[in-house]
Amino acid sequence: MHAIKKLDEALIAKIAAGEVVENPASIVKELLENSIDAGADSITIEIEKAGKKLIRVTDNGSGIPGNDLNLAFERHATSKLFEERDLFEIKSLGFRGEALASIAAVSNMEIITKTRQSTVGKRALMKNGGLLEIGDIGTIDGTTVICKSIFSKIPARLKFLKSDTIESNNIIDVVNHLASAQHHISFRLISDKKHLYTTPGNRNLQDTIYSIYGKKIANNLARIDHFHKDMHIHGLVSNLQNSHSNRNLQSIYVNRRWIKSALISELLNGAFFHILEKRRYPIAFLFLEIHPSSIDINISPNKTEIKFKDEEPLRELFRSAFSELINNHSWIGEETIWPKPNAFARGNLEKQTLGNAIVNSPESSNHFLETDAPYLAKDLEKVEGKNESEVQTAFETILGNIAAEQSLPQRNNHYLKTQPSRNMNFFKSLKIIGQIFNSYIICEDALAGEMILIDQHAAHEKVIYETFKSQLKDKSIPSQVLLEPYILNMSETEKNLLIESKSALFLIGFSIEDFGPNVLLVREIPSIFNMRTAIAFLEELKNMLLKTTYIDSMKSDEMIYSIAVRACHAAIKANDRLENIEIMTLLANMDNLENPYTCPHGRPTVVRISITEIGKYFNR
Ligand code: ADP
Ligand code: MG
Repeated sequence: MHAIKKLDEALIAKIAAGEVVENPASIVKELLENSIDAGADSITIEIEKAGKKLIRVTDNGSGIPGNDLNLAFERHATSKLFEERDLFEIKSLGFRGEALASIAAVSNMEIITKTRQSTVGKRALMKNGGLLEIGDIGTIDGTTVICKSIFSKIPARLKFLKSDTIESNNIIDVVNHLASAQHHISFRLISDKKHLYTTPGNRNLQDTIYSIYGKKIANNLARIDHFHKDMHIHGLVSNLQNSHSNRNLQSIYVNRRWIKSALISELLNGAFFHILEKRRYPIAFLFLEIHPSSIDINISPNKTEIKFKDEEPLRELFRSAFSELINNHSWIGEETIWPKPNAFARGNLEKQTLGNAIVNSPESSNHFLETDAPYLAKDLEKVEGKNESEVQTAFETILGNIAAEQSLPQRNNHYLKTQPSRNMNFFKSLKIIGQIFNSYIICEDALAGEMILIDQHAAHEKVIYETFKSQLKDKSIPSQVLLEPYILNMSETEKNLLIESKSALFLIGFSIEDFGPNVLLVREIPSIFNMRTAIAFLEELKNMLLKTTYIDSMKSDEMIYSIAVRACHAAIKANDRLENIEIMTLLANMDNLENPYTCPHGRPTVVRISITEIGKYFNR
């Protein structure tokens, strides 16, 4: 690293100044960014009482040269930025030279540091911003920063801190986000002496996500990797079975910096709009590499917001990247039908001594072991509340094992799989076993060792929807002339409404005639429907007319959408006995769909259940 220097006044004025210390989590963020910038590949974060009592960050990075140490906590002293030109091409996470100064101002801070070149380390002790003592100390390479009694001298700020649960969740959230992005670094997180997780630091994003968020999230991800102009987007995005009810599990990184961007969030959620149910969001770990000069990260003091100088290329990038992803992947989620220990615990439970706690307390620890993401803060609370020290011991033992397992350079990670590429003959190739409850189709995918369960109504609905929608778009709905016109009785008002829209209805495939008081004659119907469905569809259209009094000639997408949705409403009537040939047709039609995995409302049409899952029913 360069020597630390004071920035000149003109440059200081250009940097968005501001308080970086809002809460313990913001301290953790700044300290971690410093460790990352220092090139560490192992970082330990220890907090006590949600960081209010203690925050300690230890890294094995470059260390601070002894002579520079007293500069490090002066305001606007940095080793990362010297000229204005650098400001527009920032590659490090820090650059303002403010963090250590601001943190030292609100806490009692201790720094112990040693560079590889020097034989002895340095230790500095600060109290409320002032240097108390500085001297030599024997220590290992790297830096440890300890903050104690945060805000204790500023009661007003102390009062604004939230509960320990909230503040520690904020910290965990910060560490989760930074650790996911910096997957070449092993992060170890310890809260109130409990080890929460250690990431492997093996440059593998999915392994890292597994260690932080657990199996369910890590196993249901599809890879995205796309170039456009001089931009590159890559990362992992959840499949449809594993969407989330809010956006908290969307981590966006621009040039490895964790950022918040309303624009990217809009583009990401927009890409999934038509395939996810309402108010469901994809889980995403997205990395955007872009030339540093095309963005401005200097618009907020804590560097979490950025501005794109030109939005259009970014929109294009998302459009092409996500249509590629959505069209080319199999989006069938894996169904867990039986609560199971997580993959780590399973192997370890049986073979290793896990402490007797688990074996001896029947209803206690299993609960914990079954959670899919044991490292999320809320799960910890669940465990704490119930099972006190016993579980605690077991918990630590397990986590200790996990840590040990993860630090092995070559881990067996067969349990991590991303979504496979889509096979366009997938549904056709399945062996049909049969139908149950007149509602679900059971198939076997012998090759993958999976049972495929299809919701026939959702699937059929999707087929009708897609077919009809594209016919509507092309204004090419084939109709069939009925041998005998169908007679429909209805009120004069209703009949007149339909007659007024006669030409629009003709485009949809209906030919109708006024046949005197209260009688409407139907001569032609769209040919993808049978008689019953066609009439039900016409009724749906009539109800639509009662509300809107107008059907345009399919000019707007909205109109096409709402007509197509009505078409599939009409198409599904519960409990249809299907012949084998009908099932085969349905499966073949599904292969032709752009996205056969969800119905028009975003519900899944198909799930897979592995033979291993089924085996668990029988304790195999
Ligand atoms: P900035 O990160 O914006 O440069 P900081 O106040 O966070 O400002 O840190 C000031 C300087 O102290 C950094 O530029 C860096 O040289 C040094 N520094 C801080 N933390 C570490 C660390 N963990 N390892 C090595 N150097 C560090
Ligand atoms: Mg910094």
